[in-house]
Amino acid sequence: MQTFTPDQDGYREEIAGFQTGIRSTPQLVVVAETAADVAAAVRQAAERELPVSVQATGHGLRAPAEGVLISTRRMTGVTVDPNRAVARVDAGATWGSVITAAAEHGLAPLSGSAPGVGVVGYTLGGGFGLLGRHFGLASDRVRAADVVLPDGTATRGPLGTGIVTALEFGLVPVTALYGGGLYFDTAKIPDVLRTWRDWTTGLPDTVGTSVALLPYPDLPMVPEPLRGKHIAHVRVAYLGTGGDRLVAPLRALGPLQDTLVTMPFTDSGQIAAEPPHPHSYLGDNRVLPALPDDILTAVLDHAGPGAPVPTVLIIDLLGGAYQHSSAPDFTPDSRYTVRALSVVEPDAATVQTAHAKLFAQLDAPSTGRLRSFVYGQPLG
Ligand SMILES: Cc1cc2nc3c(=O)[nH]c(=O)nc-3n(C[C@H](O)[C@H](O)[C@H](O)COP(=O)(O)OP(=O)(O)OC[C@H]3O[C@@H](n4cnc5c(N)ncnc54)[C@H](O)[C@@H]3O)c2cc1C
Repeated sequence: MQTFTPDQDGYREEIAGFQTGIRSTPQLVVVAETAADVAAAVRQAAERELPVSVQATGHGLRAPAEGVLISTRRMTGVTVDPNRAVARVDAGATWGSVITAAAEHGLAPLSGSAPGVGVVGYTLGGGFGLLGRHFGLASDRVRAADVVLPDGTATRGPLGTGIVTALEFGLVPVTALYGGGLYFDTAKIPDVLRTWRDWTTGLPDTVGTSVALLPYPDLPMVPEPLRGKHIAHVRVAYLGTGGDRLVAPLRALGPLQDTLVTMPFTDSGQIAAEPPHPHSYLGDNRVLPALPDDILTAVLDHAGPGAPVPTVLIIDLLGGAYQHSSAPDFTPDSRYTVRALSVVEPDAATVQTAHAKLFAQLDAPSTGRLRSFVYGQPLG
């Protein structure tokens, strides 16, 4: 088992993850390759009376890690039992590898927008996925978890009792879906928000959808029709036939770019097409029972072309199977999320002040927030 102290080469590289805005300074980094390594690290921390934290991909960091940081990113094992439609993954597996392994058996996991996100961290937060309105939360499919308890004992136990070293969860029989995005120019943003909101009121639970407001930078890596523009991006993941008919009211608004197609589930990362590169970001969200016009106006003020700070703002449709979930973040009234995410620019305080102004307008009608989408700040 390899370890790093702050004075050793490789220490910073081992800590580096997707979120670059939080600088962890643990006294010891333990590079875990097995459950026994995790248990040994936990025992060592207990003996030295140091706090323990764990990191897989670093997508969900909220506070700097101190004490002993257990890095699980080499624990990437994934196996699929097609007879039971169950996957077993080690602590550091990402959705991308589960999607690939499950597809070989005509199955899919309840993964989310980005294949690079870690399975365990995602599932611990409930796991709100592309197909979740139909199949529910990822956490509701967990069959078993191997955990290391705070005293270093390795056992089988519920999520939340210790560090997870392996997770077993159910897969669903999905091989393809109708999905992708419609990208609209700046002038159409208010219309797109209203049309999307109205469209979502009558959808079957086989449709997962969100709308994002995206300030695309004027950089060569951004495709030409979107480069340097403030865009409304409608994302769709639909399990059913007649996809073109379903999205006709949105297409009628005249997108700049249209990537909707019947695709294998292995391409599902292209639906949201989020940037896979590490960066620094701050984010928060609220769950709402409805999207009246005054909320759409608040969203536009905060994340439209005149936004006080560059903000990616995503509104997701909830409802469907989420209404029956046991997870505390979801109530029968949880109908939409409003999520704001900004790169830390010009500084964290300016971003937090701007986000706080938006969420102050959403607090009264809000039914709560999703823990998974609180980034770069501790949960209050
Ligand atoms: C680009 C992007 C897209 C996302 N898309 C979605 C989405 O579609 N749906 C959704 O629900 N969420 C989504 N998320 C949120 C994501 O699920 C959380 O940020 C999650 O915490 C990431 O887990 P990780 O292992 O990748 O990150 P890490 O930062 O490595 O881990 C996050 C936290 O999880 C805990 N943790 C990790 N591993 C273990 C372990 N083995 N045992 C115990 N605790 C552990 C720790 O508290 C750790 O701080 C997204 C996040 C990003 C940045």
